Amino acid sequence: MKSPLENLIIRETLASDRLALANYKLRKLQETIDYALENSKFYKERFKEIKRGKLNTLIDFASMPFTFPMELAERPYDFLCISPKYVSRIVTLKTSGTTLADGKRLFFTDNDLNLTVNFFEDGFKAMLGGGDRVMIMMPGESYGSLGDIIKKSLDRLKIESYIYGILKDCDHAGNFIENNNINSIVALPMQARYLSKKKKDIFKNKINKLMLSADYVPEILIKDFSENHKVKVFTHYGLTETGYGCAVECAQLNGYHIRENDVYLEIVDPVTGQVLEDGTRGEIVITTFNREAMPLIRYRTGDYGAYKPKECKCGTFLKTLERSKGRIGNNTLINNQHIHMSELDEFFFQYEDLLDYSIKNSDNVINVKLFLMEDSHNTVEIIKKAFENRFNVKTNAASEKDENIPLLPNTMIKRTLT
Ligand SMILES: [Zn+2]
Repeated sequence: MKSPLENLIIRETLASDRLALANYKLRKLQETIDYALENSKFYKERFKEIKRGKLNTLIDFASMPFTFPMELAERPYDFLCISPKYVSRIVTLKTSGTTLADGKRLFFTDNDLNLTVNFFEDGFKAMLGGGDRVMIMMPGESYGSLGDIIKKSLDRLKIESYIYGILKDCDHAGNFIENNNINSIVALPMQARYLSKKKKDIFKNKINKLMLSADYVPEILIKDFSENHKVKVFTHYGLTETGYGCAVECAQLNGYHIRENDVYLEIVDPVTGQVLEDGTRGEIVITTFNREAMPLIRYRTGDYGAYKPKECKCGTFLKTLERSKGRIGNNTLINNQHIHMSELDEFFFQYEDLLDYSIKNSDNVINVKLFLMEDSHNTVEIIKKAFENRFNVKTNAASEKDENIPLLPNTMIKRTLT
């Protein structure tokens, strides 16, 4: 099955090959720059020196200045392109690690939010069909929240869905699955893992499809779900800055296709800022089209990304982005080497009974806390030994009761090692 996003993109851009789509993007980039120059105080200042109508090729665009998350945190209202009375949703992100009391603030109009509903509507077609019953384990109480947008897209597809909200109580969630005969879940990766471990039987008997979103997904989690629970796992990459949605997997389950009608996605060298060739991993930089409240131009996401050099086997002309590896700089120092969280995740989550872990490096002592299932077959000693062999260090490892597990509160915050 070809990625259903292709239809959306042809419909919205009238382009059905790469060349026509590149022309569409060039036109949209120019339109976005003009609009931001006209209406946003921030971009007026940033693009002072740029003459109108200068953009002739996509290569020209690669010399435009970047926008950084810190700038969005420092002066969000300077990005706003419309009167605040037309803003229908404001999202404030408390990014961890920032020293600013106030986080990034993002504004959306109804039309902005609707673009994401359109994207999800076609994106979900690869995963869901008539007869599926979906539990949306995302916040969805307020208008324009992620859960609300997902629900709207599934309503359009006439797929039965329920906004459950973030996971707080596994017994409650387990009953919910049974009572509503749920077979598909949209969830944060670690929440889905947690529920699958705590409610093994219900999960095994009822759930056959998962959409993991809102944080990067360790490969070992996907493997565990597909092999041990026989669940088909789709993953999605998005950030609030892109209106939550950005790129989603087709039925090949081998990387994302991007909403190329609304988002221009570049991969740049995180140090030099140079645009990288397909196949090379760097930092994802996004420019958003068709946005009324707050278009972003060359916004540095801080996330790893790479375009795949080959076309997807689904047969679409859309490009394929490799699955996200998470945040750049999400490292810890082990044995004088910067080890990325994704590497630690792949190591720790190979242990089926491990719900979560934390790792602290203080005064050259590595303290590892392991959150194991109560009836765990994996012991602290086994994991400690394997860790020490793998990373060639000595550690202090201890187990914690799983009710102390750090992942259940603060659930929409992306996981980090610090
Ligand atoms: Zn595909």
